[in-house]
Amino acid sequence: MKVKKLDDWVEGHKKPMIISGPCSIESKEQFFVTIEGLKDTGINYIRGGIWKPRTRPGTFEGIGNKGLEWIKEAKDKYQVEIATEVATPQHVDLALNAGIGLIWIGARTTVSPFIVQEIAESLKGVDIPVLIKNPINPDLSLWKGAIERFYKADITKLGAIHRGFDSFQKTKYRNVPLWQIPIELKSEFPELPLICDPSHIAGKRSMVQEIAQKAMDLNYDGLMIESHIKPSEALSDAAQQLTPLAVKDLLNKLEYRDATNANRAFTDQLDIIREQIDQADREILEAIATRMNLVEKIGEFKKENNVAIFQISRWKEIFKTRPKWAKALNLDADFIKELYKFIHQQSVQKQTGIYKTKEKTKKDL
Ligand code: PEP
Ligand code: MN
Repeated sequence: MKVKKLDDWVEGHKKPMIISGPCSIESKEQFFVTIEGLKDTGINYIRGGIWKPRTRPGTFEGIGNKGLEWIKEAKDKYQVEIATEVATPQHVDLALNAGIGLIWIGARTTVSPFIVQEIAESLKGVDIPVLIKNPINPDLSLWKGAIERFYKADITKLGAIHRGFDSFQKTKYRNVPLWQIPIELKSEFPELPLICDPSHIAGKRSMVQEIAQKAMDLNYDGLMIESHIKPSEALSDAAQQLTPLAVKDLLNKLEYRDATNANRAFTDQLDIIREQIDQADREILEAIATRMNLVEKIGEFKKENNVAIFQISRWKEIFKTRPKWAKALNLDADFIKELYKFIHQQSVQKQTGIYKTKEKTKKDL
């Protein structure tokens, strides 16, 4: 994928690229006063949603076309570039006519290949940046597919926004970040700018800073942060928006990391630690191989004695003791629980394989 670097589409770009502004444009005053508050914070794009795809009807679905006039006016008055979300080809036409500087595709749109295709085609030959939010469900292929559709429509100022994923489990996040998914995206498309939306991941103001910092620690290329002049009175996403002053404060407190460091002492030390990690990984794999050999042995033993593979009491015991052992070793108990789900799944699969092979051998005889 040959997309343009951020430097080619953000004038005077210095990392990270910042997009900030209200979740939704609600009134001319709210929009303009928010922009005034953000103007001197070194922000690259002002965000303002006017068509809001809400999960349920009856909530605020955006100010609609009225907002386009305010966008045009704000652009002239404050000399800023404005970004908005589009969800249909009609939105694209209207937004382009209003002189929009950047568009993004929302999480509820990315999930739908036909509409993504239509929007991508409606953008053919257009030179503004297009950012694709991750789909609401944790499906990397769907995200990649949407990005590829825009790429095939010759959009080269292309980027991705990580806004977290829907989860049926209750977590401290509104949308769980699952950082490994955007990291995988970045490893497949290293040139693709990756922007973090800590506001929709957090769902609450108090967590936006730490998520934004985590994105910087992971070398993201930019941030999209929702801001509102009176956050608690916002018509959408009131709990997660920051005042312009709080955005300024957040950006001042952010610590920026270098992508790498060419210093010899640093790279030598890095190599040493990486060698130790390689060795530790070999030992992990050897331990897993030992465990799987034992699983094979127990599988054969159970089969000979006509005992079922899965015994709930044993599984419960493993699930209880391993996180406890892990804790004593200063490991995160939840992480070990997840790891054991995979290990157990593989053990059951291996034993099932043994049962099947044996049956076949019997029949063959
Ligand atoms: C938004 O940006 O306000 C929005 C609706 O976000 P998402 O598509 O990430 O839910
Ligand atoms: Mn929002």
